[in-house]
Amino acid sequence: MESYKGLSPSQFFYRNREIAGFSNPVRSLYQAVRELLENSLDATETHGILPEIKLEIKPSNNQNDKITIRIEDNGIGIPITEVPNVFARVFYGSKYVLRQARGVFGLGVKMAVLYAQITTATPIYVKSSIESSETEYEYRLFIDIEKNLPIVLELNVRKKRKKWHGTIVELTIQGNWPLARRRIEEYVRRTALIAPYATIRLITPESSIEYKRVSRKLPEPPQVGKYHPKGVDIELLKILIRSADRKMRLLDFLTKYFDGVGKKTALNFCQWAGFNPDHKIGRLTLTDLEKLSNKMHVYNKWRRPKPLTLSPLGDTLLKEGVKRILEPEFVTAISRPPSSYGGNPFIIETALAWGGKVPVSDTPMLLRFANRIPLLYDESVDVSRKIIDAIDWNVYKVKFPAPIAIVTHICSTKIPFKGVGKEAIAEVPEVEKELNIAIRETARRLRRHLSRIEKMYEIKRKEVTISKYMDEVTRALAYILNNDGGETIIKQKLMELLKKEIKRKAIVRGGIKSAAKAPCSR
Ligand code: ADP
Ligand code: MG
Repeated sequence: MESYKGLSPSQFFYRNREIAGFSNPVRSLYQAVRELLENSLDATETHGILPEIKLEIKPSNNQNDKITIRIEDNGIGIPITEVPNVFARVFYGSKYVLRQARGVFGLGVKMAVLYAQITTATPIYVKSSIESSETEYEYRLFIDIEKNLPIVLELNVRKKRKKWHGTIVELTIQGNWPLARRRIEEYVRRTALIAPYATIRLITPESSIEYKRVSRKLPEPPQVGKYHPKGVDIELLKILIRSADRKMRLLDFLTKYFDGVGKKTALNFCQWAGFNPDHKIGRLTLTDLEKLSNKMHVYNKWRRPKPLTLSPLGDTLLKEGVKRILEPEFVTAISRPPSSYGGNPFIIETALAWGGKVPVSDTPMLLRFANRIPLLYDESVDVSRKIIDAIDWNVYKVKFPAPIAIVTHICSTKIPFKGVGKEAIAEVPEVEKELNIAIRETARRLRRHLSRIEKMYEIKRKEVTISKYMDEVTRALAYILNNDGGETIIKQKLMELLKKEIKRKAIVRGGIKSAAKAPCSR
């Protein structure tokens, strides 16, 4: 006789931890650092706070295989009653709303806690306080894997001595620091690129690296939004109907719960789809819901999804970030207008960096980001790589090997990831089109920059060649003019004429002055 029982979410992830990136000591260390850093950034920048983050990684035994990670942020903090659940209950969090964030599933940090618990038998330590609280509190927690509930081992509550808000988290996991080091350092470096308004300190056994903020401007925080009618399914309709008044008319339901649906649009839709706008939503049968969902998908007169739920960086901040990390000679950036796919709004941003300290390589170096998260794995299957590889760079005056780097950033409430690894963006036509436009525009700007530089060099070369003959010409002129001793004045006059001519040509050929003056941006 078989015996039957259920599996709790914690048990599921305990058995399948590689799904969430916790597959081996190298990847797990990297993943744990990511989860903590991303939570700290969400707790600051999304709430209008300039992030101040300290991340420490240190071995906690002599064999170097147990690693302690400690992170401290100045974020909004976590209410005392929520701490156990958010850290020790799988699928619990504050980000289950339609708004751009780094975290979405309410899973990440619990995976790190779970991994700590099963590899080193140590609990997670959390200290936190919220702005309005008079107290600060410390917890030590385990997860009850079978029940998917927190086990509180220790709780200390104290009166706050100084006014602060934020969170400190510490956990010890089995990890391989020497092998994970390069990835983690690169991850933090790229995070500093995409968050130029953040100060991030990374302290490791080898070094202490500080990325000081280069801007005090935060991007507009995202707002919580409504679903777009094109993105619904039967389950979502059921959930929304459950949360609404059952006597509500279909017409009011559509206008109240969906993005960009006014009364007129709702009426037109009902007429087109064969629904009575006065139908009470509590009376819709499952068959009605199926029809409604299908019709909502195919109706093509909805307004585009509003991008208020998104928080793009903007071209100025993106440029600041690129300058901070790549230190190029030239940088240009674009933040495209909002677009959408399948009812999900998205915004593409790209930057191109050239020269300076950008490494020389045989193909453009690519730095990818999704909702401000650096993507370090699976570059070869990412849509950005495909676009860059398809470009004939000769057209843009780039001859390889060359010092060129391209940054791509996609913001969306639903990033079109390829596969569960969440490390590569899929080839969604709408996204591909936007990326193509943005990357090619930055490439055109690079070509203009390179043309200017070329012309400038050409003119300089001419100037040098001409000045070689200057003394001889001066002497000859002095002789012809019978003006012995007037060489100095003649030479001066000739030089003035030459400079004037060069300047005239420069203006005719287009803006050398601007290229010479501001080689570092556009
Ligand atoms: P997610 O980030 O996907 O929501 P996590 O398991 O990583 O899932 O985190 C769960 C919740 O814990 C978050 O939604 C957030 O509310 C809270 N949280 C985690 N870390 C912090 C932090 N440093 N500051 C404030 N809140 C945090
Ligand atoms: Mg998270």
